[in-house]
This record gives sequence, C-alpha cells and structure tokens, in this order.
Amino acid sequence: MSTPTIDQLREQVRAPVITADDSAYKDARAVHNGMFDRHPRVIIQAEQVADVIAGVNFARDAGLDLSVRGGGHSAPGFGTNDDGVVLDLSPMRHVHVDPRSRTARAGGGTTWGDFNYATHAFGLATTGGVVSTTGIGGLTLGGGIGYLTRGYGLSIDNLISAEVVTADGQVRNADATDNADLFWAIRGGGGNFGVVTSFEFQLHPVNDVYVGLFFYELEHAGTLLRFFRDFIKDAPEAYGAFPAFQVAPPLEFIPADRHGDTFCAAIVHWAGPLDEGETAMKPFRELAPVVAEMVGPMPYPALNSAFDPIFPKGIRSYWKGLFVKELTDAAIEAHVLHGSRVPEVSATMHLYPINGACHRVGSTDTAFAYRDATFAPVIVAAWQDPADDSERIQWVRDYYEALVPQSEAGGYVNFMADDDQSRIQDNYRQNYTRLTDVKRTYDPDNLFHLNQNIPPAS
Ligand SMILES: Cc1cc2nc3c(=O)[nH]c(=O)nc-3n(C[C@H](O)[C@H](O)[C@H](O)COP(=O)(O)OP(=O)(O)OC[C@H]3O[C@@H](n4cnc5c(N)ncnc54)[C@H](O)[C@@H]3O)c2cc1C
Repeated sequence: MSTPTIDQLREQVRAPVITADDSAYKDARAVHNGMFDRHPRVIIQAEQVADVIAGVNFARDAGLDLSVRGGGHSAPGFGTNDDGVVLDLSPMRHVHVDPRSRTARAGGGTTWGDFNYATHAFGLATTGGVVSTTGIGGLTLGGGIGYLTRGYGLSIDNLISAEVVTADGQVRNADATDNADLFWAIRGGGGNFGVVTSFEFQLHPVNDVYVGLFFYELEHAGTLLRFFRDFIKDAPEAYGAFPAFQVAPPLEFIPADRHGDTFCAAIVHWAGPLDEGETAMKPFRELAPVVAEMVGPMPYPALNSAFDPIFPKGIRSYWKGLFVKELTDAAIEAHVLHGSRVPEVSATMHLYPINGACHRVGSTDTAFAYRDATFAPVIVAAWQDPADDSERIQWVRDYYEALVPQSEAGGYVNFMADDDQSRIQDNYRQNYTRLTDVKRTYDPDNLFHLNQNIPPAS
C-alpha cells in the first residue's frame, strides 16, 4: 500500500486540513501550555466522526506521530507535536441533554464550559474540573477531579458510554456490556485506546451552589491543613472544598494593600440546599482569622469559570501531582514551607479531596487505581516569561520532592508533566498489566502514544 499524501487527505475529508502554508496554521498548532511551541505537519480540525476515522487512518498509514486534542490543556503539551498529525476535536463540541433520563451526550472536543452551559439550562451537572476551558476529553479519560467529586464521584464514575475510533479506524461503542474491556480502560487510562468522539454522562441535580473563598495569613497554613485533614474525612458530601496557597489577585474583595501578598486559602463549594450554605461556610470562617472573603450563592457554571482568567491560553506551565492516603504532620510541614513560596498569582497548590462517592468505586473497577487515596494534591506553576522557566520548574520540583516521602508511589495522570513517563506503572499499580493487555487488543502498534503512555503487552 502506498503512503497517503496530504493532498489525498484533503480530498477525502470535509473538515479543514491545515498545513504550514495556511494562515490558520499559527493559531491551529497552539496548545494551552506555551512551553510547547511545536510544528505539526498537518492539523485536521475534525467536525464529525468521519473526519476522525480519516485522520486516524491517515496517521497510521503515513507512519506519522498522532496527537489527539480535546480542550488542549495537557500540561505536557500532548495536543501538539513536531512533524506529525494533530487531530483537533475542538469543532466537535455539541452537547445534547436528555432531562428525563438526566443524561448528556457531548462531542469529544467539548469543554467543561460548553458542557455546563448546556446542562445548567436544565438545573443539572456532573463532575468536571475547576476551570471551564479544560476539555471533557482529556480530563475524563484520566479520571476527572472537581468540585463534585465527593458528592458524585470522578467524571469517569458518571460516564455511561463512549463512542471510540480505535487504531484500526473502526468506530466502537464502549459501555458496561459492549466492549467492556475498552470501557474499563478508558475510565482512567487516558488517551491510550482511541479517539473518543462522544461521551455519555449521568447528570445530577446541581444548579446554584454556595461558594466561599477565604484568605488567611500564612501563619495559619498549618492550622488550615490540620483542620481540613480532620474535617473532610466525614464532612457531608455536598462539600467540595480544597485548601490552597495563593498570591492575592487584584480582586475587589481583597484589601488593595494586600494585593500581591501570599496567603493560604480555602475554596469552599457547597452543593447542598442553598439555605444551609451560610452554615456550611461557618467552620471555614472560624478556623482562623479571615483576611478576605467572598461568600454567596452562584450558578455552578460561574464557579466553574471563576479561575479561568488566571490560566489564559499560552501561559507557560509545569505540574506535578501525587496521591495521599493520610495527610501526615510531616506533609503539612512541607506544604507550609514550599506553599509559602508560591511564586505568583497563577501558581498554586490545590489539595483536592477524593473521598466520599469516589471511594464507593473499587480500585480495580475502573483503570483509576487509587480509590483508597484521600487527597490528590497538585502543584502548578504558570508564568509568562520564558526567562523564569527554570526557577518556576524548580519550585514545583522542590515542593514535589518534599511531599514524595509522605505520598503514594503513583499520582493522578492528568497532573503529570512531560518528565513523568517513568511513573506510569506506579500511577496504575494493580491495573497496569490489564491496561497493557487492553492496549494490545485495541492499539497493538501504539499509534496513540503521545500521552502518558501505556505500551501494549508484548
Ligand atoms: C488550567 C487547568 C486546569 C485543570 N483543572 C483540572 C481539574 O480541576 N481536574 C482535573 O481532573 N484535571 C484538571 N486539569 C488537568 C486536565 O485534566 C488535563 O490537562 C487533561 O488532559 C486536559 O484535557 P484536555 O482535553 O483539555 O487536553 P488535551 O491536551 O486536548 O488532551 C490531553 C490528552 O488527552 C487525550 N484526549 C483528549 N481528548 C480526547 C478524546 N476526545 N479522545 C481521546 N483522547 C483524548 C489525548 O491523549 C490528549 O493528548 C487542568 C488542566 C489545566 C491546564
């Protein structure tokens, strides 16, 4: 069989096929993380499943690297490459809500902003991330942690079915009975098994939620973390709170003379009855003196986009993630030391709790292996100036290294950097071998390798 050409690809697909001589190329090749300034040979802006099939077949038969891009938020920049094919799913963002069954089906390039907009119209939502511009694709395939995790589980726990284009160009339905091994693997195994052209989710009655942002002096960071460790153990599942370290942005509710100062903070989300919201905020208001707070009800999609301005497209970033069963005193000490050095407004540490409903799924029921972890901390540096690269990366690495002795061997794949490939077996621990078997079934030649890669079993 002869190697297909880009001209042949253009004849075959109706979607835009963009190469370096097109004016759209510069924008089309860019991903969220500005560290990855790459030059693919061709970008297919897929509009429908037929475009995806053609793109998969083309990359495979041409022997080119293939990046699959949903929302483009991958910290290691997996959504782009040099000299390969990018299958950009961002035009595939249609969301269909069925309010009777409380389900929604969304295209593979949908963002959480698109999704929440569509479902909120019916007073419904499901677990997504804390930023609205993140794709449902990458976030869900890695697990999916957010405000609703304690109440409704990870995003994958709400996934009912997926339509997947596998490496052989076939379209497969994956659900609990149909291609059940594939369905198991895509729930946590990332983009290793094919291109998900649509996701079907279970929704829940989440409409307006009660939110509190509390800023405390750094000297109370230990108190905050110890409080949270105990509080969140058996707090009502309507709480989706997490502690953070945060340089104060220039927001009205923070005294002007404190803008730019470093604080520890609590981001508190209450999805229970709104008239219980004030009471729900009380423990956080009382744990230490509050320097600044913003408290009140808001639509769930508004909360989901509250952090968006801090992470604009093109900002440079570097991430590390861990799983933690018990937040030890030594871990808290490390947080206080390194969190206090958070370099700027767009850098942070979020300590996401993943107990509650997330623990009601077994550690081998899906590919997500750490159902016994209580927290998934993420350390993120995000900055604009390339001159700051090494300093910012070092801050994340030092912070991470200090937490490693107090953490599990593996971490959450979606919080991994491009230098974390060596952690892949630990990230999946008891599920790793089964994942390599499923990989061999659906992608024996590892076409989908630009990801936290699970190689096929030999
Ligand atoms: C600002 C920001 C906030 C974040 N907040 C959270 C959070 O609150 N909770 C959380 O869990 N994670 C969060 N993350 C991490 C996020 O889950 C990962 O970066 C995720 O990979 C992003 O998905 P994406 O579709 O936007 O990214 P992309 O870069 O488009 O995709 C990442 C990888 O996922 C795979 N992929 C994406 N879509 C598909 C698809 N349809 N079919 C097959 N494979 C696909 C591909 O392998 C791709 O390389 C955040 C990331 C950022 C940058």
